[in-house]
Amino acid sequence: MTELYWFRNDLRIDDNPGLAAHAEASRLLCVYFWPRQIPWCNLTGMGEQRKRFLLETLAALQSDLRERGQELMVLHGSPARWLPELVARFSVRRVGVSRTPGVYEGWEVDRVARLLEIPFLVHEGNTLFSAAQLPRTNAGLPSQFAPFRRLVEELGSASPSGEPLLPPRPDRVSAETVSQQETRPHPAFVVRGGAAAGKERLHAWMLRERAVDTYKATRNQLEGLFFSSFLSPWLATGSLSIRRVAELLREYERTHGSNESTRHLYSEFLWREFFHWRAYEDGSTLFRASGRGRRRHLRTFEPRSFARWCAGATDFPLVNALMHQLVATGWMSNRGRQIAASCLVNELNLDWRYGAAFFEKHLIDYDVASNYGNWQYIAGVGADPRGGRHFNIDKQTSLYDPEGEFVQRWQGVCAPQPEFSVDAADWPIA
Ligand SMILES: Cc1cc2nc3c(=O)[nH]c(=O)nc-3n(C[C@H](O)[C@H](O)[C@H](O)COP(=O)(O)OP(=O)(O)OC[C@H]3O[C@@H](n4cnc5c(N)ncnc54)[C@H](O)[C@@H]3O)c2cc1C
Repeated sequence: MTELYWFRNDLRIDDNPGLAAHAEASRLLCVYFWPRQIPWCNLTGMGEQRKRFLLETLAALQSDLRERGQELMVLHGSPARWLPELVARFSVRRVGVSRTPGVYEGWEVDRVARLLEIPFLVHEGNTLFSAAQLPRTNAGLPSQFAPFRRLVEELGSASPSGEPLLPPRPDRVSAETVSQQETRPHPAFVVRGGAAAGKERLHAWMLRERAVDTYKATRNQLEGLFFSSFLSPWLATGSLSIRRVAELLREYERTHGSNESTRHLYSEFLWREFFHWRAYEDGSTLFRASGRGRRRHLRTFEPRSFARWCAGATDFPLVNALMHQLVATGWMSNRGRQIAASCLVNELNLDWRYGAAFFEKHLIDYDVASNYGNWQYIAGVGADPRGGRHFNIDKQTSLYDPEGEFVQRWQGVCAPQPEFSVDAADWPIA
């Protein structure tokens, strides 16, 4: 019986419960749909570095599959248009996909399920815990992190499942080889897509350098090779399994002992987990200005301020440097993201969703749940019990860039920006 597996943010073979559920088929067709570019907050398209990383990830998966007698078809266009055609062409009897947060992603699955007249299975997604393990799901899921952590911290994460032996691809499948991009990684952040590169990074950071031992003290730095794990790009594309990473962390603790840094890393995994499960529950309110609540933060949206923030041309050198770093490398540290986001919300008084959309375009670790969840948190319309975070940029500069090296490297100082002029009706005057 021929089956079809639709890869989404689970671009790996190892510990992929969705893929493994189709290992018994006599033939398996593997497909991936290039993300749709839906205009949002006046932005479209994918930043060069994010695109590069995704293409590398797909090329690596395709080559891993080919080594196992399989193939990956990368298709452009809507799954609802393609899947019925593929099902008919290859006489597919069952289709599977793994669950991933995001409203469009959910609608797409519902639409395809309605169109196909064969069994359509939605498997567990890229989380530490399975839905069955969570003591409370749906409406009972805590809306803040601390109670969520208390609920799950004693749960062992589900064990990784290893690599399934894959059925061969159907005859007559031909797929173009995923082409590599001209764009290279920026020398300041050389990370390559694909499962092998992710595993290499995990081993280098945790086992070779043992940087996890000092993680708690270093994790707020803005730059460096080993101050934090850099695992997010592989976790976001699913080329690394979070359960595999957590298992290695547990092994590390058994061998070298646990300390506050190893425990802190695990609690960061729980943040990821929290945002993922919340995103399923929150649905479209994850993208609403007021979040789950009804309290609207009234703002005067000045598009020129947004343009300056994106271009790294504000009156805040640290923020400019961070934005230049983001666009050039596809990356920004966690503290950097907090500062840049707080600036957009609190200093520039802009709608947080525009900032989130810009991050979505550029971050190579873009993950819908973590991105929109963290932005809501800072904007005070999400999980923060304190109602939002306002970072004092001068204080952050003196804490994390006291010598001004980061600002200098990323050319954060720019000429003072002219005041905006508006007419009597508050319309901008160019
Ligand atoms: C405004 C804003 C937007 C963000 N957007 C994203 C995003 O699109 N994708 C994304 O993966 N993370 C996002 N984060 C969370 C966090 O900044 C990154 O996960 C982290 O910087 C990745 O670096 P690392 O892998 O070295 O993390 P480490 O510090 O080494 O942490 C290990 C892992 O824990 C998880 N993690 C750590 N912090 C968080 C957090 N606050 N929320 C959720 N998961 C976390 C990540 O999977 C990370 O890889 C965002 C944070 C902010 C403030």
